[in-house]
Amino acid sequence: MNEEQRYIPEDGCPLFSERLEEHIVALTRGEVPNRGRFCGNCYTPMARETQRCHHCNEEPSSDRGTVEQVPEPVIEMLRAVHKTEKNWVNGFAYLGLVIAVFAGLGIVLGIPYLRERLLAATIVYAIILLIGSRGLAGLLGGYYGDRIGFERARRRLIEDWSEWVDEREGAGSAT
Ligand SMILES: [Zn+2]
Repeated sequence: MNEEQRYIPEDGCPLFSERLEEHIVALTRGEVPNRGRFCGNCYTPMARETQRCHHCNEEPSSDRGTVEQVPEPVIEMLRAVHKTEKNWVNGFAYLGLVIAVFAGLGIVLGIPYLRERLLAATIVYAIILLIGSRGLAGLLGGYYGDRIGFERARRRLIEDWSEWVDEREGAGSAT
């Protein structure tokens, strides 16, 4: 997965800045506590002296100040994103492997010369499998799986995020 070249889509959902993602990954590994100073809007970690969030450009105000920890639902949203992405990448990589197995078999059985020579056929098949499965798994998983997974995950994230924002704003104004 090429996380470094990921763009931030202009879809109205400010989650997840790179720094928030790093924080949650480290949190999941137990490397950092869920304590600190986070933007009250997008939950990007903010340094003590920072006045304005670098990610969503929101300034902490009396309405919505910074928070001390990232809310659990937001952490869950990122985990769901990662899970969806991983499933699509792995699924497509597996599909690539299956295609290589059957296409290789088709090629070997389709060439009369190889059909009569078991050793030569085995060698050719092994080469096709070695190169083909890696190539196809990389292409399908790394390219299509990554793209589709990202889009699916993002779409769901936008829904979850807007629900969460409704809840957050609702809870804030109810008091
Ligand atoms: Zn922010």
